[in-house]
Amino acid sequence: MKRFLVPGAILLIFFSCGKTPSRKGDTFAAFRQRFIDAYWLVNPLTATNVGYHQYDDLLPAYDDATRKREQAFAQAYLDTLGTFEKTGLDPLDRVDVALMQNTLRSMQFYADTFKAWQWDPSTYNVAGAFADIVNARNLTNDEKYKSIIARLRLVPAYYEAAKKNISNPTEVHTVLAIEQSEGTVSYLQNELEDFCASTSIHHDTLLRASLLHKATDAVEDYRAFLQKLLPGSRKDFRIGKALYGRKFFFDIQSASSAEQVFRKAMQRKSELHTAMFSITRKLWDKYFRTAMPADTLKAIRMLVDKVSLKHVQRDSFLSSIEKQIPELTAFVKEKDLLYLDPSKPLKVRRTPAYMDGVAGASISAPGPYDNEAETYYNVSTLEKMPAREAESYLREYNHYVLQILNIHEAVPGHYAQLVYANKAPSLVKTIFGNGAMIEGWAVYAERMMLENGYGNNEPEMWLMYSKWHLRTVCNTILDYNVHVNGWNEQQALHLLVDEAFQQEAEARGKWRRVSVSQVQLCSYFSGYSEIFELREELRKQPGFKLRAFHEQFLGYGSAPVRSIRQMMLEETAKKN
Ligand code: ZN
Ligand code: ZN
Repeated sequence: MKRFLVPGAILLIFFSCGKTPSRKGDTFAAFRQRFIDAYWLVNPLTATNVGYHQYDDLLPAYDDATRKREQAFAQAYLDTLGTFEKTGLDPLDRVDVALMQNTLRSMQFYADTFKAWQWDPSTYNVAGAFADIVNARNLTNDEKYKSIIARLRLVPAYYEAAKKNISNPTEVHTVLAIEQSEGTVSYLQNELEDFCASTSIHHDTLLRASLLHKATDAVEDYRAFLQKLLPGSRKDFRIGKALYGRKFFFDIQSASSAEQVFRKAMQRKSELHTAMFSITRKLWDKYFRTAMPADTLKAIRMLVDKVSLKHVQRDSFLSSIEKQIPELTAFVKEKDLLYLDPSKPLKVRRTPAYMDGVAGASISAPGPYDNEAETYYNVSTLEKMPAREAESYLREYNHYVLQILNIHEAVPGHYAQLVYANKAPSLVKTIFGNGAMIEGWAVYAERMMLENGYGNNEPEMWLMYSKWHLRTVCNTILDYNVHVNGWNEQQALHLLVDEAFQQEAEARGKWRRVSVSQVQLCSYFSGYSEIFELREELRKQPGFKLRAFHEQFLGYGSAPVRSIRQMMLEETAKKN
């Protein structure tokens, strides 16, 4: 995903080194390529992260001069993009224009209005800038070493600028930054030092030791600075309605406002409760000998807990997932829901050690500069987990939810979407792709599969789907209520535990996440609801075919749903 958290900057001045945004007679394709190169120069840490390594030696200090250059870059490219806007570009290029414009306007918004660089001390952290070099797939150790030394030299100036920027920070972000700085010191002294020592080339070890020492001192000095600030950190972490609406506009790129999406989520929560209660009444006698409690939410919770007891054993967790992918593929084929390219099978593997933190499953896709690499479905094994923890994890990812998870992550969710996105290759859509569309598609796929009979309409499957989907819905409700309506932790726990049937540990973790982030928790439901509404609208047209809808929708790449919607409606109008 995009990372505006570490504001990047340029060390060169564009207009004196030939990097001017516009040239006479420029084609859009040439302009687009130059835009991307210039963008990486402004954001070298993000560049390293996505596998573009030309600026690995940069670590910009985010000072006044940097901010001015960043703004000049954004304005200059916005001006030129404006001239391309009305020149009869094809639909896919028009989406690229919209994505580039949104990226540049976001840069302006984050620098001059949102200003997390003043109140969120955790935006400053160099660990990733080094880890992304160490873990890069397409560099030699010698290249890595040189870039690491170049970046190490810049660490003290980076934190000096950070100290000048911070004023009136929030307590939660200050605490987070203090905690993270401990991890950063440990990373520099252990992993990074070990990597440098392991490279076989004879480098100046004294120089390296001295640079590492100064870098560590800079991080520790920053931490001491934050500890002094902490007692006076009083700023509310809730960003309020106005900023929330603007951030939602830039991050989600939805046709709806934040408030509209919040209302849709409230509506969906009540639909899900109604559906879950009706299943509970139907299944009660099958699972319980006692009378059903009068409190409907309590009754649903009891049934959810009971049905969750059906789960795979810990040593067959990975193999069950592996076995399910071909079954899902067969179902999609049999029901004619979507064409799946058989030449690109998904590889299920254990999560590699360097990315194994929390238990879970995730798709690991090749980056935009690493197209040849395989796509993996990473699954954490539960071997090292204490028995009690493993049992609780297995109940969470029980027989039913595990299947829904595989739909979401793999087929026809994230993995299938990715295969389609790669068929319409666009560097812009890969780099600046819309997170709400990507997550929304995976969430939509869950419902769509069940609607088409996946799980044989077993009430237990629908019950667990509803519980799983309720998490997505409540993420939106929680995020909006906390940041706009000033909710506290008690109110948050009530929503998540009593109304969404979560365990308290999960709910507390979500409270921590909502207090250090904003809007991101909305992306899943927001994208889902837009896709679902678009389908329901097009379904009314004569000759609607579900499979054709899916293939056309995915064919535009990871664009915002509102852009895809516009293109699909234009296409339909042309045909009729
Ligand atoms: Zn069990
Ligand atoms: Zn997802």
